[in-house]
Amino acid sequence: MPNKAIFFDRDGTLNVDVHYLHEPEKFVWIEGAIDAIRWANEHGYLVIVVTNQSGIARGYYDEAAMHRLHDWMNAELAAHGAHIDAFYYCPHHTEGKLPAYAKSCDCRKPAPGMILRAIREHNIDSAVSWMFGDAASDVAAAENAGVKGVRYTGGSLCELIRATIETS
Ligand SMILES: [Mg+2]
Ligand SMILES: [Zn+2]
Repeated sequence: MPNKAIFFDRDGTLNVDVHYLHEPEKFVWIEGAIDAIRWANEHGYLVIVVTNQSGIARGYYDEAAMHRLHDWMNAELAAHGAHIDAFYYCPHHTEGKLPAYAKSCDCRKPAPGMILRAIREHNIDSAVSWMFGDAASDVAAAENAGVKGVRYTGGSLCELIRATIETS
């Protein structure tokens, strides 16, 4: 049977957006984010983060640092009985400094590449899945992948998700 998923943007949605975040000590959870992830876990949704990380192309931090941050996030979540099932990231940017990453791609949101790849790799039914993010490009990426996209504009992320999904 196909899976259902909730896709989350990272910066500005799960954590307070400080530019080019890669250090756990600068990570601050958004209000209701941990509860939102746990709610999704408990209601049978895969939790998948899809995040643009142009700081890698710009040479501000490397992929290993980002993976360390993501491992730290999951360790924090584990202490609260919650987990993220998968992280997808776009390290590219056309104006990047590092040649390997300095290109246009099909994964940088609003392109749907990360979501489409997750759908394939996790056997996800897009029609029963959702994407929450703080930017118009998050909603656009979702819609480009056939997933319902919802803009997060502040307040409790968990309340938004419950209000959206429980009444749909
Ligand atoms: Mg964001
Ligand atoms: Zn990309």
